[in-house]
Amino acid sequence: MGLFNFRANRSIGIDLGTANTLVYSKKHKKIVLNEPSVVAVERETKRVLAVGNEAKEMLGKTPDTIVAVRPLSEGVIADYDITEAMIKYFIKKIFGTYSFFMPEIMICVPIDVTGVEKRAVLEAAISAGAKKAYLIEEARAAAIGSGMDISVPEGNMIIDIGGGSTDVAIISLGGTVVSKTIRVAGNNFDSDIIKYVKKTYNLLIGDRTAEEIKMKIGTALPLEEEETMEVKGRNLVTGLPKTIEVNSDETLEALREPAMQIVDSVHNVLERTPPELAADVYDRGIVLTGGGALLSGLDALIEEKTGINTVIADNPLTAVAIGTGKFIEFRTGNKGDSKK
Ligand code: ADP
Ligand code: MG
Repeated sequence: MGLFNFRANRSIGIDLGTANTLVYSKKHKKIVLNEPSVVAVERETKRVLAVGNEAKEMLGKTPDTIVAVRPLSEGVIADYDITEAMIKYFIKKIFGTYSFFMPEIMICVPIDVTGVEKRAVLEAAISAGAKKAYLIEEARAAAIGSGMDISVPEGNMIIDIGGGSTDVAIISLGGTVVSKTIRVAGNNFDSDIIKYVKKTYNLLIGDRTAEEIKMKIGTALPLEEEETMEVKGRNLVTGLPKTIEVNSDETLEALREPAMQIVDSVHNVLERTPPELAADVYDRGIVLTGGGALLSGLDALIEEKTGINTVIADNPLTAVAIGTGKFIEFRTGNKGDSKK
């Protein structure tokens, strides 16, 4: 029992996100790692030079010989080797190099990943040093982590808006009843802001600037008081640096399309939801998680277009990791079905 407990204590839950990777430790009962999902790789040799925060610092500033890679694009594994290297690095960071007991790992994946992608994630975890690896659907993890009681026979709607993908799901009795994943999320907000500024001002801005605009003045519904922000970029006609002023109404225009694509996916799921469960959702409301949910006005837009009360979870950025961790507690703690 002692040995088993020790091993179970080393269980971790990993939220392998497009933008950020978070790790929940069963032993510490909290999130022990939260770093960007970025890996810096030597171009020629493919040798991994840095992972996480250190690698993100290098983004956009690397010499030609080094590339900074986001191994998970659009919520799926785009580069298997680099994903494995990243998981390995994070495990080492948590447990140290000379770890005798390997951890059991629960990883969350988007709902509609293929069997091949699922196997790739599991294999990456095992070859990164996991004793055992399990998968949990992202929406389920988000629901558990945001405090929903999904064990009851009542429909709950959860929408997780990450960097690369948005998962919409109806969950009841612990399982996903209806769901949809679209490859539209926070990154699209950024790229649509870049497109808008380019088209309107002939100005080229970088990813970081676009994300800053989104976070500071970006909105999915008109603001009561318009906000403005100075933005630096490169004038595409003269090739010279230039500063312009962008306002929140302009972000509204730039973000209309991706915001409406998310709303459409919510409608799509509601249309396919059995009537009793749909009635539950109307009573209980919609919960939003993921960093993309923090876009100003997006919750209100979804509420306006569906007529269903919509709230952002208390912990939108950590809900998935916490839910993944809680789920592994259940697997290894209560049921003990992963002893061997
Ligand atoms: P993933 O699960 O894909 O790693 P996250 O849930 O960590 O993604 O969310 C990352 C996304 O959330 C990014 O696109 C980021 O720009 C966006 N984001 C984070 N904070 C905010 C904010 N305050 N306002 C708008 N978007 C935000
Ligand atoms: Mg996520």
